[in-house]
Amino acid sequence: MRKKIVAGNWKMHKNAEQTEDLLNELIAKLPTETNAHVMVAPTFVNLASAVDHLEFTNIEVAAQNLHAAEGGAFTGEISADMLKSVGVTNVILGHSERRAMFHETDAVIAAKVDTALRHEMTVLFCFGEELKDRQTGNHFNIVENQLRDGLFHIEAKNWDKIVLAYEPVWAIGTGETASPDQAQEMHQFIRETVRKSFGNDIADNVSILYGGSVKPDNAVEIFSKPDVDGGLIGGAALKADDFVAIVNSI
Ligand code: PEP
Repeated sequence: MRKKIVAGNWKMHKNAEQTEDLLNELIAKLPTETNAHVMVAPTFVNLASAVDHLEFTNIEVAAQNLHAAEGGAFTGEISADMLKSVGVTNVILGHSERRAMFHETDAVIAAKVDTALRHEMTVLFCFGEELKDRQTGNHFNIVENQLRDGLFHIEAKNWDKIVLAYEPVWAIGTGETASPDQAQEMHQFIRETVRKSFGNDIADNVSILYGGSVKPDNAVEIFSKPDVDGGLIGGAALKADDFVAIVNSI
């Protein structure tokens, strides 16, 4: 079922106390009935407490990453089993910061996707072109290749565990947003690309989120586009009032 989703990526922000404060504010301010599924992705060390804190709410918790291996000598890494053991069933993979700063290739991301699916986790699969790709008119090719090389190896039956998050790198944390028409154009292209390889049912049911400087004042217009099913929110997810306003824009 195609769902509306608003997910907050907290990145490397908020210590334990700040995490609790922000969660308390969200619980107090988010309406109990929303049109969107709401997720938050605190940093690893605060995931267990976030799961506990949100137990009786409709806010879900996501991790920001995992390692593809089941376990072993990987200092500093976190496995899918560890995440599941504290109740985390959603994971963001392929974020542009992981691709750019931590050198994650499509092949690395594809292996992480496989691991997450093996553990029956929902994957928020991030992808998107850089500014130079858009300036040279190569953005559709880049996006199609990221999908094909990082995701399209999965079996059709696993698509109900996939949420796509189109995040043009030039719009992340820059204050520069893709226009609603640019977002719609790319989301439609993404849905048609999925359709060509996996058919109507999967293409029509997959949720495609937009990410890149979504704020309370541009969310309504972006979310009103027919192929935009919600947002992955960075900076604005760190302030309860802004995040709640974005959720309420759906
Ligand atoms: C992100 O990092 O996923 C993101 C969308 O960030 P921002 O909203 O700050 O652009």
